[in-house]
Amino acid sequence: MDMNQKNQGGPSGNKPDGQKPKTSMWTALIITIVLVLLFSWIFNTVANSQYKETSYSDFLAAKNSGQLAEVEIRYDRIVYMTKEEMAKPAAAQKASFTGLPRGGDGMALAEELYNMGVKVNQEITEDNSMIMMLLYYVLSFAVLFFFMRMLTRRMSGEGMMGGMGKSKAKVYMEKQTGVTFKDVAGQDEAKESLQEIIDFLHNPQKYTEIGAKLPKGALLVGSPGTGKTLLAKAVAGEANVPFFSISGSDFVEMFVGMGASRVRDLFQQAAKVAPCIIFIDEIDAVGRSRDNRYGSNSEQEQTLNQLLSEIDGFEPSKGIVCLAATNRPEILDKALLRPGRFDRRIIVDRPNLQGRLDTLKVHTRKIKLSEDVDLRKIAQATAGAVGADLANLVNEAALRAVRLGRKMVNQEDLLVSFETVIAGTEKKNTVLTDMEKRLVAYHEVGHALVAALEKHAQPVSKITIVPHTSGALGYTMQMPEEEKFLNTAEELRTELRTLVGGRAAEQLVFGVQTTGASNDLQRATSLARNMVTQYGMSESLGLMTTASTDNSYLDGQAYMDCAQTTAAEVDHEVMTLLNQAYVDAKKILADHRSLLDEVSLYLLAKETITGDELMAYVNADLKTPELEQPQEAEEAQEQTTEE
Ligand code: ADP
Ligand code: ZN
Repeated sequence: MDMNQKNQGGPSGNKPDGQKPKTSMWTALIITIVLVLLFSWIFNTVANSQYKETSYSDFLAAKNSGQLAEVEIRYDRIVYMTKEEMAKPAAAQKASFTGLPRGGDGMALAEELYNMGVKVNQEITEDNSMIMMLLYYVLSFAVLFFFMRMLTRRMSGEGMMGGMGKSKAKVYMEKQTGVTFKDVAGQDEAKESLQEIIDFLHNPQKYTEIGAKLPKGALLVGSPGTGKTLLAKAVAGEANVPFFSISGSDFVEMFVGMGASRVRDLFQQAAKVAPCIIFIDEIDAVGRSRDNRYGSNSEQEQTLNQLLSEIDGFEPSKGIVCLAATNRPEILDKALLRPGRFDRRIIVDRPNLQGRLDTLKVHTRKIKLSEDVDLRKIAQATAGAVGADLANLVNEAALRAVRLGRKMVNQEDLLVSFETVIAGTEKKNTVLTDMEKRLVAYHEVGHALVAALEKHAQPVSKITIVPHTSGALGYTMQMPEEEKFLNTAEELRTELRTLVGGRAAEQLVFGVQTTGASNDLQRATSLARNMVTQYGMSESLGLMTTASTDNSYLDGQAYMDCAQTTAAEVDHEVMTLLNQAYVDAKKILADHRSLLDEVSLYLLAKETITGDELMAYVNADLKTPELEQPQEAEEAQEQTTEE
């Protein structure tokens, strides 16, 4: 997710007219002036209320009648206390003041008063007092103005809070990303799906003329670092349109309503420069399901609602396409995935051997490699690594070469940085040891062979031991030849055997049981349970259904609907079904042990094999060519048997 690109323009930077800031400045200025006048008036009134203003003749009268007790000569006035006032209690005393006559000689007056026995004070006025006072006023004016400005900006929603929030929201706008599909290695399927969007951005009329609804959004699903951001940028680059990007987590703020206003803002900006791409990284931060299972809150919901209405709101012919990235599609709110929103799902998988090799090639394009470099070896060693890891690996190798004072990167640099970058940090979750790889290979081939050797099984279309986005270490993909609405009991039993085939192979070959089969076993168990409780396919319970579903629209959970003793019997039946399937699967594999070894070794070497390759092995083994070849029916619903 390297979004720190050049050409970034914050939203306020992009404001073409700058209207808002100006208005708020004038407001601040006017408020400040009014406040200053008000304050000085209040200050004066308060200050003057301590004194009584008198005429100069009153002062003279008091002086001449010897009534003066104390006199203070200030630079502009004379403040005095009469003996009468001094006699009063301190709280009630009130001094009088009168102006110092223009051209009046303060010194002479002071001397005269002194001679009369009056206590005389002289206020000390420094020469620069006027300047000080001016400075004092200007400074307080400035401080006040500053505060007012912040306040008014905040009120108009783009100030301190809003302003800081906005810069935190990191909307990056790139006029041209400069990234094309050439910079994205592998990911051919994803590129193909995105091609249509590019075409649409190039000439939307072609689609509108025919009356086609245009794509509004697509969801890029894949582990971190698999190149989702890169792909989105490449789409913008290929279509030659501006690229807006923001992270979902930036939308969600402490202040309710902030996220929603940010979403509105983003789409407004985008509309101004359409056609363009809006990329929302980590959309799960806002798009989390609102059913509160995953801890959504009202701010997040508001933001999500705003996002939904913006997506529904924009005219498709404008040419705005929203791409969003996530590695947790399962927690997204269903409303986001509805038609007309992010209805396309594009899987960005971890690269396989060829993909890794291509990625290494892309990233070493600008790097000087010495003769001995063998990128294929590096690609082989990095099973499970994602594009970002490989980019990092190449860079580390280059840094090492520089550190060692060489002008070229050699194989050793690559190998050493492989150890630090990948093996060192991520070994546990992505890169498998050789033994683990062998286990996974046998496990997957176990699934695939059971399926391939059975009549009723769906054809296998792909087997891979490249760790999968969902965390599976490998998977076997089966594709039905045609869409099926009914399944026979025999087909379901075949499916059970296929599901436990992975575990059966592990047990048969290595004599071990691993945690890798847990997903298979869960699926097998729930299938067997459905057979017993809902489909009437068990021997002892017969036709009686023992579970009901509440709401078959919203994939409601089934609940048991029978006596406790019957429930125990159900469990027993489920167990029997599973055990039988396991025994059968193991027998099938044991009968074809050499085939199992051959295919597993082949898979280990290639990491991903197609159904055709598998069938070639199977047919050679059986010498029964009438076994059907798998068809790659494109519309067919995909079924994967994950490890
Ligand atoms: P994501 O958004 O899926 O987390 P990014 O797109 O940010 O991943 O990928 C990070 C970096 O990894 C990219 O900038 C790029 O250098 C590198 N990278 C990832 N996938 C590929 C790829 N398929 N081809 C070339 N480089 C890749
Ligand atoms: Zn499995």
